[in-house]
Order: sequence, then C-alpha cells, then structure tokens
Amino acid sequence: MKNTPYNPFKTAQVQFDHAAELLELDQATRDLLRNPMREYHFNIPVRLDDGNVKVFRGFRVQHNDVRGPAKGGIRFHPQETIDTVRALSMWMTWKTAVADLPLGGGKGGVICDPHTLSLIEQEKLCRGWVREIFKNVGPYSDIPAPDVMTSSQHMLWMLDEYEVLNGAKSPGFITGKPVKMGGSLGRKEATGYGVMITVREALKELNINPKDTIASVQGFGNVSQYAIELYQQMGGTVKCVSCWDQEDQTGYSFRKKDGIDLKELRSISDNFGSINKTKAQDLGYEFLPGEVWIEQDVDILIPAALENQINNDNVSKISNQVKIIAEGANGPTTNEADKLITNRNIFIIPDFLANAGGVTCSYFEQVQSNMNYYWEKDEVLSKLDVKMTGAFVAVSNFAQKNKLNMRDAAYAIAVDRVAQACHDRGWV
Ligand code: NAD
Repeated sequence: MKNTPYNPFKTAQVQFDHAAELLELDQATRDLLRNPMREYHFNIPVRLDDGNVKVFRGFRVQHNDVRGPAKGGIRFHPQETIDTVRALSMWMTWKTAVADLPLGGGKGGVICDPHTLSLIEQEKLCRGWVREIFKNVGPYSDIPAPDVMTSSQHMLWMLDEYEVLNGAKSPGFITGKPVKMGGSLGRKEATGYGVMITVREALKELNINPKDTIASVQGFGNVSQYAIELYQQMGGTVKCVSCWDQEDQTGYSFRKKDGIDLKELRSISDNFGSINKTKAQDLGYEFLPGEVWIEQDVDILIPAALENQINNDNVSKISNQVKIIAEGANGPTTNEADKLITNRNIFIIPDFLANAGGVTCSYFEQVQSNMNYYWEKDEVLSKLDVKMTGAFVAVSNFAQKNKLNMRDAAYAIAVDRVAQACHDRGWV
C-alpha cells in the first residue's frame, strides 16, 4: 500500500462520489461529472540551447464547462501526471461553482523542470504548448492561467503565440498576465489574500481574535507569501514556514518563535519560492527538516505547497492547539487524513473554497481584458473580499443547517450548482 503512488484523481473521485451520495444524484449526472468531458495529450518538441531537440509531454483537461468556459492553470512540474491534471481540473469545476463564477473547470500541465531550462527554452515550451492546443482553447471556450512554476512571463509568451495564430489581439485568452500587459492589479495577491479572508471569517465564527493566533505555513511561493502578508496585517504571527530546496532535493522548515519577518524572508528567496538556507540561518532562523511545519504548536495550519501533504503518515503529528486548517494548496489532505481531522473537530477550510481567490481574480482579469478597461487595485481587492466572504458564509451556513463539515458543505453546494446547470441545459 505504502508503495502505491498517491493518485490525486482517485482522491477527487472519492470526494465527488461522496457528494453525489449526499445529493442523491442520478446515475447519468454521476457518469458525466465523475470524469473530464475532454482531455488533450500532446508532444511539444523544443530545440534546446545546445542544439538538441527535447520532446516534452503536455496536457490540457477540460473537466466541465456547463456553467461557462473552462478555467484553470498550467503547471510545469517534473512529476506532473495526467491524473494530477484530471484531479486539478475537476477541483476547478467545483471551485468556480462554489465561488459562483460563470466558468467551468480545466487544467493544463507539462512534464518538465523549469529549473533546468533557460528562459529561451521556457519561452519555446510555452509557445509550443499553445501551438498544440490552439484550436481547443480560447477566451470563450477555455482560459488558462499560471500555476505551480509558471509565471506572468509564461502567460505573456502564451498569449503572444495565441494572438499570432489567431490573427487578432485576444487578451481575454489567458489570465495571470503581467499587470502592464493586460493583467489585473491584485491578481498576485488574490489567492493568498483569499485564503486569509476565509480564515478571518472562520475566526469570527470561532470567536477568536486573529491577533491572538499563531500559524505555520507549508510553502513559500505565491499563495503562501500573500496569505502571510494579509495575516500579518490582521495581527497574526507566523512562526514557521517550509519550502523545497532544489539543490538538496528536499524540503526544509524555517522557524522563528517570535514570528518570521516576511520582507526579510522574501529578500532571500528565489522566484520558485525557495528560501536560501545559509542566509536564513545567518538571520537567526532555526533550520529544521521539511516536515516539522505540521508539528508546530499553532492555532492555524496552512498547507500552501502541493497535494498529498497531510496524510496518514503525519496527520497524528498535528498539535492539539490547532483549530483551523486552511488549504491554500489544491488537494493537500488525503481522504483518510481528512476523516481524522474531522473527528478531532479541527475546522477545515477546504481547498476549493480557501484558494478560490485566485480564480475569482482571474475572472475579474478576464472581464477587464474582454472589455479592455482596467480597475484600480482597491476595487479588485474589495470585489474579491465580497466574493470570498459570500462564498465562505454560504458554505458555513449550509454546513450548520445540514450538520455537515465544511468540505462536505462546499461539495454539496458546488456539485449541486453544476449538476443543476447540466439538467437545465438538457445534458442529462
Ligand atoms: P509556487 O510555485 O509559487 O510555490 C510553491 C511553494 O511550495 C514553493 O515555496 C516551494 O518551495 C514549496 N514546496 C514545493 N514542494 C514542497 C515540499 N515538498 N515541501 C515544502 N515546500 C514545498 O506555487 P503557488 O502558486 O504558491 O501554489 C501553491 C499551491 O496552491 C499549489 O497547490 C497550487 O495548485 C495552489 N493554488 C495556487 C493558486 C495561485 O493563484 N497561485 C491558486 C489556487 C491554488
């Protein structure tokens, strides 16, 4: 059992089956939603700087687009698998539905390690990805975005290639673009801030002042850094963060008992969210094994790295002090660990609710790009707050009314919205 590789798609399907049972969905709707509607697998040949050609494997999966165009990021990762992309595309369907956005769910990926590719090679890879999938994506069918190890620069190369092929400016094709090139102000903050908006609302429910809380965070990338930023503005203290070390191919945790200094840690991190271990120790951080982030005596845990990070092996290490787990990452908790967390009465804010701020702001970006008129940052962030608070309150009310945990309630709302749209359109 231990040697079976973790399969996030199985996790996503088990979660869906559970929601389908709760909602007593008919068989046709279950069959429609249990698997992606469409998926594309393709080769991307790239001529490397040394003159050799390397062929990369790329994917795009459109899980469901009944409520609007598919929407979801593109991940560059050496361990990318089609089942990871399938799971992430399904979670996008539920995410856009729980946030009540007029969008569906999609996801893309390339098996590659951008650390080992020059910028020119990465540009060729981005352009190649678009060339292979051009006919099946677009502003009114499927709108990609960044994800793990893809950035606004990658999005701009992809947009440029799309516009060359399309023969027209189409800024609504992709989101997460640089702000000066059709991106939205607030996008870089949106996912992390969104996570913290849901934490703020959860703390209100639990009657806890954020100023009296301490958190530990896994990951120090986009989601983590902006979650920490808003949390610190709310008065919270982050005691521990962890990240992946490319050189040593392992994770490390960095701890300061009185609280980490976000600005300081940012200044010694690279674009992939890896903290320089030597400089961190010079600055007085305790340098610890990667997994200790989860064992800290804190009130809030925020997994904001990758899937399968809270599992049977480490769930029992979660301190009795922990009151909230806010899933910044997609799929960080296995179904088995989830049951144990629920039994311990820890308030879990499920991934597709907690991190819906990213796609919500991507939706704002798409709207702004399509109308070619851009909002001020305050306007974007206040609209984000309204959407995230509304989604959290709806899930929380549903959970209380139906005596469900937050994950089941979020699933019930999201799957019901999608299933209803499938019925209304006459698909099933
Ligand atoms: P990122 O690439 O900016 O950062 C990832 C961070 O995780 C890095 O600090 C990396 O060092 C760390 N990490 C990777 N493996 C690790 C390990 N084994 N142990 C400890 N740290 C590890 O990625 P991101 O954009 O911050 O995304 C993080 C998660 O949030 C992913 O699951 C992603 O799918 C999800 N997410 C991101 C967004 C977004 O807008 N960026 C939106 C929704 C969900």
